[in-house]
Amino acid sequence: MAVTKKKSVKKNNTIKLKFDTSWLYAPAPESKSAATIKPQYDLFINGEWQKPSGGKYFDTINPANEEKLSEVADANEADVNKAVTAARNAYEKVWKKMPAKERAKYIFRIARMVQERARELAIIESLDGGKPIRESRDFDVPTAANHFFYYAGWADKLEYAFPNRTAASVGVAGQIIPWNFPLLMAAWKIAPALATGNTVVLKPAETTPLTALKLAEIIQESGLPEGVVNIVTGAGATGAAIVNHPDINKIAFTGSTEVGKIIQRSIAGTNKKVTLELGGKAANIIFEDAPLDQAVEGVINGIYFNQGHVCCAGSRLYVQESVSKQVIRKLKDRIESLIVGDPLDKNTDIGAINSKQQLETIRKYVKIGKEEGAEMYESSCSLPGRGFWCRPTLFTNVAQSARIAQEEIFGPVLAILTFRTDDEVIEKANNSPYGLSAGVWTDKGSKIFNMTKRMRAGVIWANTFNKFDPTSPFGGYKESGFGREGGLHGLLPYVKLIN
Ligand code: NAP
Ligand code: MG
Repeated sequence: MAVTKKKSVKKNNTIKLKFDTSWLYAPAPESKSAATIKPQYDLFINGEWQKPSGGKYFDTINPANEEKLSEVADANEADVNKAVTAARNAYEKVWKKMPAKERAKYIFRIARMVQERARELAIIESLDGGKPIRESRDFDVPTAANHFFYYAGWADKLEYAFPNRTAASVGVAGQIIPWNFPLLMAAWKIAPALATGNTVVLKPAETTPLTALKLAEIIQESGLPEGVVNIVTGAGATGAAIVNHPDINKIAFTGSTEVGKIIQRSIAGTNKKVTLELGGKAANIIFEDAPLDQAVEGVINGIYFNQGHVCCAGSRLYVQESVSKQVIRKLKDRIESLIVGDPLDKNTDIGAINSKQQLETIRKYVKIGKEEGAEMYESSCSLPGRGFWCRPTLFTNVAQSARIAQEEIFGPVLAILTFRTDDEVIEKANNSPYGLSAGVWTDKGSKIFNMTKRMRAGVIWANTFNKFDPTSPFGGYKESGFGREGGLHGLLPYVKLIN
């Protein structure tokens, strides 16, 4: 590690030392050898690996170097039909009849197996999706295991979750997930469905199917009755085939608002239950009385965590005018010290952008931001030659109406706006088509309660950001979707309350 003095600046009789914060760490890559990736994966249907009926496979690549990792089956309508039929049989003949405490044992077993194979899962997650190993190792995989543990605990206690009511399972759940938290989203969806006695057909995203397929291996080894969980890979058409299948009782979707709207239109007039977890444009608000260094660290975590590929990323920062200069200077210094590079290196803060397409979207928005007249600042770090990369970027002088303040970018790009009063910032924060999450930074508890009461967002963090726990519900307002996942609330979408 080396910190070198760059220059000293004299201002208002105070000498400020500026340091070159590009700290040098020796590389500390995680070994790929702890992970086994097969050259080809079939579909996991009825407890076994089945060839896709169309005979088609597609590549999944490592976005950090564009190398092919494996090829994965492309499920068509006939395959989805097979998966739904397997899930229906398993539901009627086995799963719904099984005593809840027996179901719980399987879910506990899956949780323990995810823990046992945590290292391999973390490596594969980082290889397939581009996220830093520190995140997949310390966040994605343990949180996925925790979801299984948590919901295993609920399986035989539903009468306490819904007192004086009888909660019956719904049937077959079709679950469609995005690429930003592939294993965690799979756990987030599968665990409550199984705990409440439903069976599952799950589709991971096209660019990140590998950890869901590893989870299928775990499920197979766990001895879970065949057909209870089926995992079909493919792109949007496979997802649409799940949504439109007549024998699906419940759709759980996490992804973009655009596709969420398509799904809602497709199921209108059917009696399918649905939850939609969609996009976001979270406002992170810093008041002048906040502990600024802590707040800056929270903002950095809020937007640059997982390359900004987070639906609840704090992508809009509202900072009170009196401290805005100070906060912006601290943010610029801090992004300069973020380490961008090899996702498998344990020192890496920001990994690869998930796909070429996503990188193009981010670039499009950076261009729009400049054209709109905002001032751009990006880290001066160097980027690897191959793969999809984006420097941590921030925009100042952003107008409330600017597209970079209104639309979801889903990348490491922060839009900074200022405010003077509480009323003004509430008005601005709520002026968004989305309402998934938000953050408030202040020293005053009363201000936290006042703000959180008036903000229209499903999750609001106070003096912290991006904290997740299986016991707490998560979900949005407005175009961020409806329904809650996680916690006690996460059981409700998977049950029918029959009296
Ligand atoms: P996306 O394009 O909506 O894709 C999500 C999933 O839906 C993928 O598996 C996708 O398949 C599939 N899909 C695409 N078209 C479909 C259709 N017509 N019918 C059924 N399924 C279809 O979203 P994304 O770009 O992957 O993910 C990023 C978005 O997810 C962001 O907007 C983000 O905010 C949101 N997100 C929300 C939450 C939340 O909890 N609210 C969490 C994470 C992400 P392929 O990708 O394989 O084509
Ligand atoms: Mg990939």
